[in-house]
Amino acid sequence: MESRTVKAPAKINLTLDVQHKRADGFHEVEMVMTTVDLADRVELKKRKDSRITVRSDNGFLPVDKTNLAYQAASVLQQTYAPEMGVDIYIEKKIPVSAGLAGGSTDAAAVLRGLNDLWHLGLSTGTLADHGAVIGSDVPFCVYGKTAVARGRGEKLTFLPAPPPCWVVLAKPAAGVSTKSIYQRLQLETMKHPDTDGMIRSIERGDFSGICRRLENVMEEATFALEPEVEVIKRRLQQYGAEGVVMSGSGPTVFALSRSQSRAERLYNGLKGFMDNVHVVRMLG
Ligand code: ATP
Repeated sequence: MESRTVKAPAKINLTLDVQHKRADGFHEVEMVMTTVDLADRVELKKRKDSRITVRSDNGFLPVDKTNLAYQAASVLQQTYAPEMGVDIYIEKKIPVSAGLAGGSTDAAAVLRGLNDLWHLGLSTGTLADHGAVIGSDVPFCVYGKTAVARGRGEKLTFLPAPPPCWVVLAKPAAGVSTKSIYQRLQLETMKHPDTDGMIRSIERGDFSGICRRLENVMEEATFALEPEVEVIKRRLQQYGAEGVVMSGSGPTVFALSRSQSRAERLYNGLKGFMDNVHVVRMLG
């Protein structure tokens, strides 16, 4: 049977701001996001019947309708191709519940891959619109690249790629509930990231400016709930990282470095006392 293999890269937040709670209960956010070369591999195989199945090498991942990859296939099937079916296999490389949009990027990969496998001929914009129904980060993942995301995260303004650099990703064992972080945010009094400054730094290709402006309003609440996350951030700073911040709602912390040898030093430093550390390139 016909098949496609699609790469599903992780995202990181260079900034994350929460502006206010809206009347519909969602928070209005403003985030500068980019893409890194840590990716799941998503395999799509056409079926003779119209079933959608999900399997993964990660035993902890749900393989039922709650899997975002399943939901992506289901939305395209229901809208355009009720007779089509697919077997989805996810080789998981992105840590789960890490603030790296692992589920959203799998869903985006399924949207792109099935558009091709099922010969749907949909534009990237239409795929992103379907993605927004599955999750706020899915539209960004459909495009990849670097963008400012506003609204719930689905309204995108694209930016040039940041200067090439290494990204050291450290995922602490701690599990942090996004809901409890939101409950702890002091929206009226908290300091907001300099999002415009970050955008200008990216447009100018100013690596130091990008490092200085890395900021995430969810850090403080996460540090209070899980002190281990702050310990990792401080260690990366002590080891000489040019910029360090937590990604998304955490708990992954990442450091940026222009030099490979410094990135390796950060990696080796952390490897001594934690398992889940990766050194990857920023893709932008
Ligand atoms: P985000 O950065 O978008 O907030 P995250 O990186 O923190 O997301 P995910 O790895 O996407 O978190 O996982 C969040 C939840 O989604 C987990 O409880 C997981 O079981 C569920 N989930 C559903 N489908 C997937 C998938 N394909 N990959 C990973 N997690 C998935």
